[in-house]
Amino acid sequence: EATLKNIKETDKSIQAFLTVTESEALAAAEQLDNLSDDQRGGALFGMPIGIKDNIITQGIKTTCASKMLENFVPVYEGTVTEKVKENGMVVVGKLNMDEFAMGSTTEHSAFQKTLNPWDLTRVPGGSSGGSAAAVAAGEVLFSLGTDTGGSVRQPAAFCGVVGMKPTYGRVSRSGLVAFGSSLDQIGPITKTVEDNAMLLGAIAGADYRDASSSEKPVPDFKKSLTGDIKGLKVAVPARYLGEGVQPEVRNAVKKAIGVLESLGAHVDEVDLSYSRYAAPTYYVISSAEASSNLARFDGIRYGYHPADAKNLNEIYLRARSEGFGEEVKKRVLYGTYALSAGHHDDLYERAQRVRALIAQDFQSVFADYDVIVGPTSATNAYKLGETIKDPLTLYANDLLTTPVNLAGIPAISVPCGFAEGLPVGLQIIGNHFEEAMLYKVAHAYE
Ligand code: GLN
Repeated sequence: EATLKNIKETDKSIQAFLTVTESEALAAAEQLDNLSDDQRGGALFGMPIGIKDNIITQGIKTTCASKMLENFVPVYEGTVTEKVKENGMVVVGKLNMDEFAMGSTTEHSAFQKTLNPWDLTRVPGGSSGGSAAAVAAGEVLFSLGTDTGGSVRQPAAFCGVVGMKPTYGRVSRSGLVAFGSSLDQIGPITKTVEDNAMLLGAIAGADYRDASSSEKPVPDFKKSLTGDIKGLKVAVPARYLGEGVQPEVRNAVKKAIGVLESLGAHVDEVDLSYSRYAAPTYYVISSAEASSNLARFDGIRYGYHPADAKNLNEIYLRARSEGFGEEVKKRVLYGTYALSAGHHDDLYERAQRVRALIAQDFQSVFADYDVIVGPTSATNAYKLGETIKDPLTLYANDLLTTPVNLAGIPAISVPCGFAEGLPVGLQIIGNHFEEAMLYKVAHAYE
């Protein structure tokens, strides 16, 4: 009740929630209250959580912040929400985002703009802007976001909270509305590293409903929060602190690296040269996959249906032109172009080859180092409206987060000071299935 009351008050200004599931949450909490003491267990028991609105929730509207799915109510539960409920958590609502997770500011939501709790004239980042803002504003202590090219880490950085993009396959994608299937991962957003580690532990693991989910055992991530990083080998790619990075962001990250050194870590500069092609590579591959994934929204099977259309062609045409926003249409067009007969080799195939080089680059660094660190975002949070007219600059700003998704490896963003009064994120990147190592470093730093 206290959480719902707080959301009602706080969300008037933050606008993080698209749906508050008041009656369902109260009913779920009541059920938990009625359990006997020995049926209550785990640190997450009874904790309220908010869910990004591209993760389906049975019986609860799941819109992807799109007019296309404005009234869509899923008939089954997603794996991650099933798991948070098994852990006794209470889902209190669905969180705003860029439409179908395409964007970096949450301004591409068809319904509302979420504001950055640190400065209401700024964006919370995106696409999981609602998930990060809700935690930063203290509406919930836990939320889930999704990260295809940075959408958990960048809003976590902009809002001064902790966000983890797990290894591809660590968390089941069953129930996540697909954007770029070879890149998408669901990840936890919290205020502390410890909370984050607990939530990832709860949602991770193999799932027969997602063939790409990994059989690897899920360690007890909390055990790695020892504070001891003596002798750890840390690589800092020169490029990650180079040109284009806001000077105050660079200073904050350099200071954080100094802290790691003072804790006994060994820091070296390295070269990750193929990373500079990550943003264009990501936009070709993610748009290609999106154009295929979004083909299911045809006005017949799901969502928006122009009832007065006169024939099949008109249904398709109107459902997609009236149901999708501008950014989504743009991505579908890029993707269709990249996959078309005349450009497939030139764009899609070539991007796949560059993707392999980017992944190899990381492997050569991880042969000698435990983690790679740098900023999560090159700048602090943008002003509302500032980037709308300049999409190419905005795409280029994904240069520090997209390499990680292309390589399928994990990365966490933890708050590391301020740039002009706004939070900065330190990004810590690890090798496949090394989330425990990332939590160890992040916790020691925090
Ligand atoms: N900003 C990137 C994009 O617009 C990343 C989005 C994401 O991770 N979902 O595609």
